[in-house]
Amino acid sequence: MENKTCKLKDKCGACQLLHLTYPKTIEYKKKYVIDSFKNEGINVIIDKVIDAKSPYQYRNKMIIAFQNHKGKVISGFYEENSHKIIDLDNCIMHSDIQNKIANFIKKLIIDFHVSIYDEDRRTGLLRYVLIREAVHTKEVLITFVLSDDIFPSSKEIIRRITNEFKEVKAVIQNVNNRKTSIVLGDKEKVLYGRPYIEDELMGLKFKITSKSFYQVNPIQVEYLYKEAINSIKCKGDETVIDAYSGIGTIGLILSKNVGKVISVEQNRQAYLAAIQNAKDNNIRNVYFENDDATKFIKELENESIDYVIMDPPRTGSTPQFLNSVLKLSPRGVVYVSCDPQTLARDVKVLLKSYKIEHISIVDMFCFTKHIESVVVLNKK
Ligand code: SAH
Repeated sequence: MENKTCKLKDKCGACQLLHLTYPKTIEYKKKYVIDSFKNEGINVIIDKVIDAKSPYQYRNKMIIAFQNHKGKVISGFYEENSHKIIDLDNCIMHSDIQNKIANFIKKLIIDFHVSIYDEDRRTGLLRYVLIREAVHTKEVLITFVLSDDIFPSSKEIIRRITNEFKEVKAVIQNVNNRKTSIVLGDKEKVLYGRPYIEDELMGLKFKITSKSFYQVNPIQVEYLYKEAINSIKCKGDETVIDAYSGIGTIGLILSKNVGKVISVEQNRQAYLAAIQNAKDNNIRNVYFENDDATKFIKELENESIDYVIMDPPRTGSTPQFLNSVLKLSPRGVVYVSCDPQTLARDVKVLLKSYKIEHISIVDMFCFTKHIESVVVLNKK
């Protein structure tokens, strides 16, 4: 397979491995995982690699920044380590519809003379446009991030967008007037349609708002979740902890196979979305906690837990969390990780009482350096 050409190569910096063929990127990732464990003194083999059938156009979320450069509107992604925007008309990691909508909006912004925000002077209106696509239902959400409440010509702009793209089911105005590199502000209002779009994932429905955390590769994420969920041997009465649960996806998908799931997530918005997702899918055996996973699991030390699934951020888990897992002594631990180095560091602690049963890599972030893997550990 020939690599697709990227016009932004070496500038945007998001796809660090585009100079390699796709199979070579997989080799790189495999070696990286093996070496990360080796650095901790652990020899591993990778049992399975799930590469992407199509390693392009996989991203379901596009954030386009706007700038005025010598009177010309520029829109696209930031250059690596800079505040300069690369003018973009097509990114090969996003779908055709996302690219088309991005170009269409840019033209409308120019035609309707919408002023562009200037970071230094703090003048102008438009900062970013966020496009989210639910690939299974084909619904699209667009968020205009503005520096002010007032959006001149918005009615006509939205009419044109929704006439052209029937997939657009939600248009949101987000106000962010702070001097910050965080994209979204707190205040939002619906300009068109619903405040969310809905996606389907492994038979369940999930609502996606402009702020929801949702895995960026909706095709590969199903393989990832299957790797995690199928490794749990279920009779139907098990109690499982889903730690670092985000909007509850893993626990909710697993819930029909087990007796009870206890989910813990620190981010309040994600926690509230998880509760809503359980309601929307009529799931009653998942219990949600809005807490720090380390603090919460310590309180559970006397409970009887059959499995722990953990999916921490890149920084990994904490020694205290891992010690609580050792005390809880579940039959198995499933560690879903987006950073092999912290994964190896944490697994080393668990090897006191557990052995590695299976390691798989699921290529979620194709052509980037990011590596998603799943380690299944069983009690010795
Ligand atoms: N399992 C989810 C989310 C994984 S991302 C999914 O597949 O979508 C990691 C999550 O851990 C994020 O939602 C983040 O908010 C949460 N998190 C980070 N630190 C945490 C902590 N100390 N305690 C609990 N959750 C935490």
